Amino acid sequence: MTDLRINELRVDEADTEASNHSSEEENEDWIKPLIYQSQGAKEFAYCPYSKFRVGAALLAHDGTVFTGCNVENASYNLGLCAERTTIAKAVSEGYRRFKTIAIASDLEDQFISPCGGCRQFMREFGDQWSVYLSKPDGSYVEMTVGELLPVSFGPEDLKKKTMLTTQNGS
Ligand SMILES: [Zn+2]
Repeated sequence: MTDLRINELRVDEADTEASNHSSEEENEDWIKPLIYQSQGAKEFAYCPYSKFRVGAALLAHDGTVFTGCNVENASYNLGLCAERTTIAKAVSEGYRRFKTIAIASDLEDQFISPCGGCRQFMREFGDQWSVYLSKPDGSYVEMTVGELLPVSFGPEDLKKKTMLTTQNGS
């Protein structure tokens, strides 16, 4: 866990600008360090089976950054993606409001894209925060959680009115 409080003001400014779809240059002063941290987290990836290293850096509302990597297992389906590792780290330390998550891999020709499970995991904490899909050279694409997972199901849907009777009236 790294503290990015120094950049907090910049992050707040950039957050407002991002929602106005401003240029990459204006975001660059704070997003590049976050991508760099996701690349650092990738170095700790435990992926003896896939050999596919992934790192993530999650920026919480107060400027705190959490990092994580994929953690595989000999029982393959127990493996954890970097995004979920990172979000679980943050939630387990009391954080639930997030601004951004940056994701890094070793894919040179493709921006690393989160799997469907991780998109839903992100969605639990809102659909308007941003996800930066990066390449090893530091270039990136920004998308919102809602863009990555449109027409999604979230916690608020559980609170909506439900039909308690079945069609045959029983
Ligand atoms: Zn995933």
